[in-house]
Amino acid sequence: MRLDDKTVLITGSGTGIGEATALRCADAGAAVVSTDVDAEAAEETAASIREDGGEATSYELDVTDGDRFHEVVEDVAAERGLDALVNNAGIGHPPSSVEDTDASVRDYVIDVNINGTWNGCHAALPVMKERGSGSIINMASVGGMLGFPYQSVYALTKAAVINFTRAVAAEAGPAGVRANAVCPGFVDTQLTEAFFAGREDPEAAREEMIEEYPLRRLGEPEEIADCVAFLASDAASFVTGHALTADGGYSST
Ligand code: NAD
Repeated sequence: MRLDDKTVLITGSGTGIGEATALRCADAGAAVVSTDVDAEAAEETAASIREDGGEATSYELDVTDGDRFHEVVEDVAAERGLDALVNNAGIGHPPSSVEDTDASVRDYVIDVNINGTWNGCHAALPVMKERGSGSIINMASVGGMLGFPYQSVYALTKAAVINFTRAVAAEAGPAGVRANAVCPGFVDTQLTEAFFAGREDPEAAREEMIEEYPLRRLGEPEEIADCVAFLASDAASFVTGHALTADGGYSST
């Protein structure tokens, strides 16, 4: 599965799943546009790709800023064309019941996870439709498919991402543009570390969670990156409107 001659823009690629996706896409031959609210982290990812002989640039991009998203996408489209957009940037929140969740937490998680994904599609769709091709990959979660107690805002945003992706696929398909979501289970990144750190006994909570995974382990960022690279590639040319679950079997039990 190759991504030669393709340009892939990834949000939140300074660390975690986004960083692994950037490296995987570069390995497969893509020119990578690494973006993150943390400009230094985005550039570190791009620099490590260039050091390995790949092609990469970086931009500071806060996905909640729709105007900036348009600016970056238009710049990339003018320079090299845009073949794939990975709306990966996303955040969690400390565990709390619905009634104890502060409205400011709710609004910020919605802003990054939902509006950020919307902003990316809003910016990329005109460019991709005009070219008559493109692939959008939105990072959802099994948290958007199952009840996720004490993570209600996260669950609400990721469910929205899944159904928004279907709407985009239905709308943009006639113009040759595909849109898919990826739904990871727990993956070892700083987001997951923060999730367990919020528990009374983080190590015990992690072990308990692992027991609920048929594969008896959490995922690695590279395993999600492989799913994204597949959806970005021509190997997935007839796949659109799909939510690809990569959760070690968690949602099937
Ligand atoms: P992470 O916290 O390790 O990395 C997130 C990256 O996004 C960071 O580089 C951060 O700087 C960046 N970011 C945060 N807010 C941003 C903003 N407003 N604009 C641009 N960049 C921003 O997270 P991760 O675990 O790699 O998660 C990546 C995606 O995968 C998220 O959408 C997350 O919800 C989803 N996901 C993660 C897991 C998991 O277990 N780690 C499971 C399911 C889904």
